[in-house]
Amino acid sequence: MSEPEQNYIGGEWIDSSTDDTFEVIDPANPNETVNRYQQSNADDAADAVDAAVAAADDWAATPGPERGRILRDAGTRLEQRKDELTDLLVDEEGKARPEAAGEVQRAIDIFHYFAGKAADLGGTVKGASSRETTLYTREEPVGVAALITPWNYPIAIPAWKLAPALAAGNAVVIKPASLAPGVAVELARALDEAGIPDGALNLVTGPGSTVGTEMIENEGSDAVSFTGSSEVGEMVYDQATDAGKRVQTELGGKNPTLVGASADPAEAADIVANGGFGTTGQSCTACSRAVVHEDVYDEFVDELVARAESTDIGPGHTHEMGPQVSQDELDSTLEYIDIAAEEGATLAAGGGVPESDETESGYFVEPTVFTDVESGMRIAQEEVFGPVVAVIKVSDFEEGLNVANDVPYGLSASIVTDDHTEANRFVDEAEAGVVKVNDKTTGLELHVPFGGFKRSSSETWREQGDAGLDFYTIEKTVYDNY
Ligand code: NAD
Repeated sequence: MSEPEQNYIGGEWIDSSTDDTFEVIDPANPNETVNRYQQSNADDAADAVDAAVAAADDWAATPGPERGRILRDAGTRLEQRKDELTDLLVDEEGKARPEAAGEVQRAIDIFHYFAGKAADLGGTVKGASSRETTLYTREEPVGVAALITPWNYPIAIPAWKLAPALAAGNAVVIKPASLAPGVAVELARALDEAGIPDGALNLVTGPGSTVGTEMIENEGSDAVSFTGSSEVGEMVYDQATDAGKRVQTELGGKNPTLVGASADPAEAADIVANGGFGTTGQSCTACSRAVVHEDVYDEFVDELVARAESTDIGPGHTHEMGPQVSQDELDSTLEYIDIAAEEGATLAAGGGVPESDETESGYFVEPTVFTDVESGMRIAQEEVFGPVVAVIKVSDFEEGLNVANDVPYGLSASIVTDDHTEANRFVDEAEAGVVKVNDKTTGLELHVPFGGFKRSSSETWREQGDAGLDFYTIEKTVYDNY
């Protein structure tokens, strides 16, 4: 096997001070080690923050168009290596190749999008109340941004934090998740090769509890952007605010698709199966609850079960649905399947581990459908993070809306209906940061804001699009009386 990947600190690729590494294995074939990474500690994280602090002023003073040129060049380098990055993503995270290729393309597009934005940043001029006065705002970088990311979109999420942070002139330290850090390391390599100044970008791999905590608490960092589970994210939020940092956290979900009485059951089943089983159910926006009007319930369930049972499961390189990312994630999904059965839900499809030569050793699970689910059950309340859809029967739109909102999360929500009033009422009243009509809960455009309500988000700042830049900029207002 090749040498372990290194940390990127102050423009150098270096080993951790621990001299220790960890392995990332292929979730489709856990006997295969894909790569090794630095098992860093708090000292490495502190070195990375120091390097960012040292570089921050110069990077902030670098003209926006020049920062944009570096981002654009990095995006082009990623594009030239798209196939290789896609393979690496499948090898480490396990998702199906078309999903991985789409995610890599998204990272490329994000770099190109924010490359343009870097040149546009500046501020606005306003009319002043006094004569001979210029009144204007300047958008300045916040300083040093600490970025902590999850494994489930291991290139898109690092990209949607790194690109706006760097475009706005912040120096950054990023810690990718340890289950699939490879593609984030490749983002750093692309930026290095594109000529990012030493220290403006730093990447450290290792445990969140040590590396992440140091990045948050070190007095050199000014802002913390975290995406991950609600449990960890809520702790990170408290740590960051206690330390006086600007913070955004984007967290878990329990996303509903409401299927109205007017919906075509087959179309609704397509939408729910796509949202619920795509990416092996490991999307924060995955559909995990289908809230279905009684008039179309039976037909919808038949259609959804047919889709679950015809899913082609196997290694992501060659199959429609890959494995879960780890033994822990698989165990957690299987545990929820047991819990749902104990709670009295009816197992209508899946529920187990598929049996074939190709799925024998990996962390595979069948797409699973539970019917007769009550909204108060744990399977309808807690994030499962696997391909499991709980189907809840309702007798009218009002009840459906209440059930859709009856969870502590509020990331994404969709409705399938031909009724214009229902659609508009859903848009008005759904408690979610992303609301879709006749579409799946997953899938985002890169140039519009993204973020959740309730336990899905700190609700402080949105990510992506123009809104994504706000977190990384602070405005100064200038009264220039000449
Ligand atoms: P996680 O919370 O376990 O880990 C996320 C990151 O935090 C990792 O890099 C991890 O190493 C780090 N971390 C762990 N403990 C830490 C600590 N004490 N201090 C600082 N950092 C720490 O989440 P995960 O399992 O990697 O990702 C899956 C979760 O992420 C799901 O809940 C999913 O819904 C959520 N997610 C949310 C969004 C969104 O935009 N809302 C997007 C993707 C994933």
